[in-house]
Amino acid sequence: MTTRKPTTVVHGLSFDIEEAFHALNMWTATPPETWDDQPSRVEQVVDGILSLLDERGLKATFFVLGLVAEARPAVVRRIVEAGHELASHGYSHRMAGDLGREGFEQDVRRARGLLQDVSGVEVAGFRASTFSIGRGTRWALPIVSRAGHAWDSSVFPVRHDRYGDPDWPSEPVHLDLHDDQGRAPPLREYPLLTRRLLGRSWPAAGGGYLRLLPFGVVDGALRASAARGQPGVVYLHPWELDPGQPRHDLGGLRTLRHYSGLQRMGERLRTLLDRHAFGPIGDIPVPDDRRLDPARLPD
Ligand SMILES: [Zn+2]
Repeated sequence: MTTRKPTTVVHGLSFDIEEAFHALNMWTATPPETWDDQPSRVEQVVDGILSLLDERGLKATFFVLGLVAEARPAVVRRIVEAGHELASHGYSHRMAGDLGREGFEQDVRRARGLLQDVSGVEVAGFRASTFSIGRGTRWALPIVSRAGHAWDSSVFPVRHDRYGDPDWPSEPVHLDLHDDQGRAPPLREYPLLTRRLLGRSWPAAGGGYLRLLPFGVVDGALRASAARGQPGVVYLHPWELDPGQPRHDLGGLRTLRHYSGLQRMGERLRTLLDRHAFGPIGDIPVPDDRRLDPARLPD
């Protein structure tokens, strides 16, 4: 394995801080009404991530779920004390489309207030549960900006069964947002990393794509993005670095999605960190002339 970093493009490294049982894929086995009784494993895994980043002198973005901040406030404080960027993953881990406009607004505002109270720092970044801002839910973006966020990283510019916005540009942009309440404050959007192949954009942003697909998919997408001078955004969940987590019977495809590749994920993350330059998402500059009015995209 080479440790050479061939370019100076700094990609965004992020962790969505939630328990395994918060993942939508798990809800058949661990529906929300059982969450209070599920064993928590997030704290020990986050400590491992913080040690790994500390060893390498790396800073990253941590999107913390409101439910986690409420139950484990010490985790939030350790993330901030270690010098990482604290961002919001919403409160309840419900998807924007399921919450609806009013429910989404309450969820987003509650999470940001809670994280700021617990940490004492201002929260500028947001990521919706399960990348659930995209085609059909672009109305969520002015709500994110009016809640006080300066940037968002919820849009996955791909076709997918659960999320995605295939018409969305792959590079970070400044958004011009307006709705029936008028213009919304400025918001930068950092979409999740994709790779252009055979006339289509394919997801390559870490997470399940790093765990389940050949290593070259995410590694190659980062390299291709850097070659264009464009930083990419990748994500991981703590539970993806926790092979010792309790097993639930989720049925065929869901079981594969959740449990495959857990043993190799730590090594794959280390190799990515060896090969590419990473930093917090909010530090990625967006050129002034790169602007998008989402209302102009096809519905
Ligand atoms: Zn999540």
